[in-house]
Amino acid sequence: MFFEEDPPAQLVGIARLAAASPTLEAKQRVEYLELETRRFIGRASGSRMLFVWTVNPYRGCEFGCKYCYARYAHEFMELRDPNLFERKIFAKRFRPEPFRQELKKVKSGESVWIGTATDPYQPAERRFRITRKMLEVIAGERSIEIGITTKSDLIGRDVALLAQIAKRNAVRVHMTVTTLDEALARLLEPLAPRPALRLGAVRKLSDAGIAVSVLAHPVMPLINDSEASLDRVCQAAAENGASSFSAGPLFLKPCAQQVFFPFLEQHFPHLVRRYKERFEKSPFLKGHYPEMIEERLERVRARHNMKSREVLEWPSNDQLTLFESIR
Ligand code: SF4
Repeated sequence: MFFEEDPPAQLVGIARLAAASPTLEAKQRVEYLELETRRFIGRASGSRMLFVWTVNPYRGCEFGCKYCYARYAHEFMELRDPNLFERKIFAKRFRPEPFRQELKKVKSGESVWIGTATDPYQPAERRFRITRKMLEVIAGERSIEIGITTKSDLIGRDVALLAQIAKRNAVRVHMTVTTLDEALARLLEPLAPRPALRLGAVRKLSDAGIAVSVLAHPVMPLINDSEASLDRVCQAAAENGASSFSAGPLFLKPCAQQVFFPFLEQHFPHLVRRYKERFEKSPFLKGHYPEMIEERLERVRARHNMKSREVLEWPSNDQLTLFESIR
């Protein structure tokens, strides 16, 4: 048990469920727990979102990216230390039938995005296979629009299943590659697969006919934001069959700052003052910087004949009709 004793009576909702979660396995650094889950599909909020419905098979993420914005998700469980996000991994107790029923609420024109606050192909997936089980249910559906975001080549395990899903649904995988510099990637994303492995998965997916975008997200000032760095990632994405490339500036909420600022102090001390000045006012980088990055991205995309974002493509003529009739 994560808590030695019964969960404190004052905890409610997800915090209480988290406190009551049984331990599935404890490695030296990471503890896996099983989380009872009432709903597997959540509704995304905010007009900035490209997706409407979100699915997160896990809570927490072992990859431990220093910039991870999703650390806030553990705060809902009263786990206030932001480092626990990568050390206490909650695997959701999965039941296929309730998930199948929940999928019925997805309406025409709406998307389901897997991996908005966790990586669905983090190490826990090798053992618990919850993402795989969800995809097996989705494979029985038709006319659903699915997006998957990951940094892991483990998605290659599911290529055949994703190709099967893509015959009757629209599928797009978003592979995040922030840099091709392996040493920098190791600093920024300590336990995520190497960029070369991620690009290998892009190749495998695209060879199977699955639409793949590469995201160089987040773009961090004076760390991975040079045009040369973005160009290298975009070129590698194009060479491995991705059809689109995009990125956005770093977003740093206070819980993420608690991890990112000490990281800067250790590895980029000359940047600490400037980052603090910018992010202590707002979690978003505003002003000229986002425009400058977008201009760089446009030039880079033009050089490699890559699209920006694109609407998911439907696999055959009758899919829209099916979509209308079923949802
Ligand atoms: S892979 Fe995504 S969810 Fe996991 S730590 Fe990195 S940014 Fe966070």
